[in-house]
Amino acid sequence: MKQSAGYDLHSHSRASDGSLAPAELVRAAAEAGVRVLALTDHDTLAGLDEARAAARAEQIRLVDGVELTCLWHRRVIHLLGLGIDPQAEGWGPYLQGLRELREARAQAIADKLVTRGLPDLLGAARALAGEAPIGRPHFAQAMVDAGLVGSAQQAFDTWLGQGQVGDVKAQWPALAEAVAQIKRAGGYAMIAHPTKYNLTFTRLRALVADLLAAGGDGIEVSYPGVTPNHLRDLLQLADRQALWVSAGSDFHSPSQRWTALGRFAHFDSERHLLDRLCNDTERSRAAKGL
Ligand code: AMP
Ligand code: MN
Ligand code: MN
Ligand code: MN
Repeated sequence: MKQSAGYDLHSHSRASDGSLAPAELVRAAAEAGVRVLALTDHDTLAGLDEARAAARAEQIRLVDGVELTCLWHRRVIHLLGLGIDPQAEGWGPYLQGLRELREARAQAIADKLVTRGLPDLLGAARALAGEAPIGRPHFAQAMVDAGLVGSAQQAFDTWLGQGQVGDVKAQWPALAEAVAQIKRAGGYAMIAHPTKYNLTFTRLRALVADLLAAGGDGIEVSYPGVTPNHLRDLLQLADRQALWVSAGSDFHSPSQRWTALGRFAHFDSERHLLDRLCNDTERSRAAKGL
């Protein structure tokens, strides 16, 4: 189950909060046996051109993607857009809005941490983010660099994770707006890692119903941390609601040992988005090892 699936529809580069440049990510994916890779950076498409060029050289297929931060009943949800057209109308203002929200939130995070006696980390976090939309992982790394914590994970556990002082809320766009932008760009709108929002299964079904009502397409069913029971329940939900299903490693960095490109629990589905994304069915079957 943990050998490479041959495809990976969820990954991050330095264009958001990953540690590899887009071309390095693509090369690492190729080395890991991935033949179809989606780059799905948080709230930006900036890594796609470089990744596409590298994918051509490596003879792997790049799926243009994004992971949009949005709100559903005041809860932060991550929505994957897969197979999007990066040139489509609306991305400029949509992503610029998210960038501004992130910049304002970063200021608020820094201020909150200062009230708890930490040094002002805004400058360091900004420098680490560079051109990327700034987020909590940049603060986590700034804390590691400043010797305040032993690891980025510890930074989340103590300062930045859910319920901690640095978990500052923002008025992200609503789920329906994120779906609309992905559909405007001709992509598939998929709920990322649905078991990671602390939702009961009843609430998850309500989320899926709202996704469908907004014109969305499906859910991720296999990713790090998913249990065999989750996978079974998610596949069943997808069958009942006629959802597309996808899977990916949510890779951020080679130093995170629990995520590796192309590694997640295997499954079979008639409604696998990989088949839909690859017009060349043979290649898709090969990527799936069939
Ligand atoms: P942000 O979009 O700024 O809220 O940051 C979200 C990102 O932070 C996620 O995509 C993960 O990469 C990372 N993250 C969130 N929560 C945790 C956590 N508890 N432990 C480690 N990383 C986390
Ligand atoms: Mn992330
Ligand atoms: Mn996510
Ligand atoms: Mn992700």
